[in-house]
Amino acid sequence: MTEAMRYAANEFAAGEHGGTHIDAPYHFYREGLHVGELPLDKLIVPLIIVDVSGLVNDDPNFVLQKHHLDYMLNAGNRCVLIFKFGWSKYFHDKKKYLGVTESDELNFPGLGEEIATWITTAYKNVVGVGVDVASVDPGCSKDFPVHKVLSSSGLYNIENVNLSMDVPSYGCTALVLPMKIRQGTGAPLRFVAICPKKLN
Ligand SMILES: [Zn+2]
Repeated sequence: MTEAMRYAANEFAAGEHGGTHIDAPYHFYREGLHVGELPLDKLIVPLIIVDVSGLVNDDPNFVLQKHHLDYMLNAGNRCVLIFKFGWSKYFHDKKKYLGVTESDELNFPGLGEEIATWITTAYKNVVGVGVDVASVDPGCSKDFPVHKVLSSSGLYNIENVNLSMDVPSYGCTALVLPMKIRQGTGAPLRFVAICPKKLN
């Protein structure tokens, strides 16, 4: 091959739910949308980051409950809510990030079922929920009630969000654009926040 004919191309294969990824509602709800069916007006939306890392205080068994947030949320425009548990700093230490025990149990923070129900009933404007841990349900969960509640209400999830950099809690726009796998239950996602320029 001459240099003029040369080009670079790799192949890849991956699960739909590794790394930063989206869970389509179909992942936990038979009637829910697949990845390729998610409308753009639910994927490019205002971003709200709810920083609960101070409450978590590195406790791998922390479960977020409604009373933690009563004062934080305002109903308003369509938005995606990202919960910051302060776990991104462990991402490159798989054992710590997932809280793997000797008996292969997992321990990392997550949302309580009550809070998922509350978001879907009181805050109809929320189109998706994300977390800086591996799952919206805590690591110890066996029956994934948060996934079920959110997906059956048509919300998508974003898992393994990298929140190691400073992103303002309000005022940014989220670009939630997964690889468009038409019948996907989930898909790898490059999650982007476009934030207003800081004026000094
Ligand atoms: Zn997933």
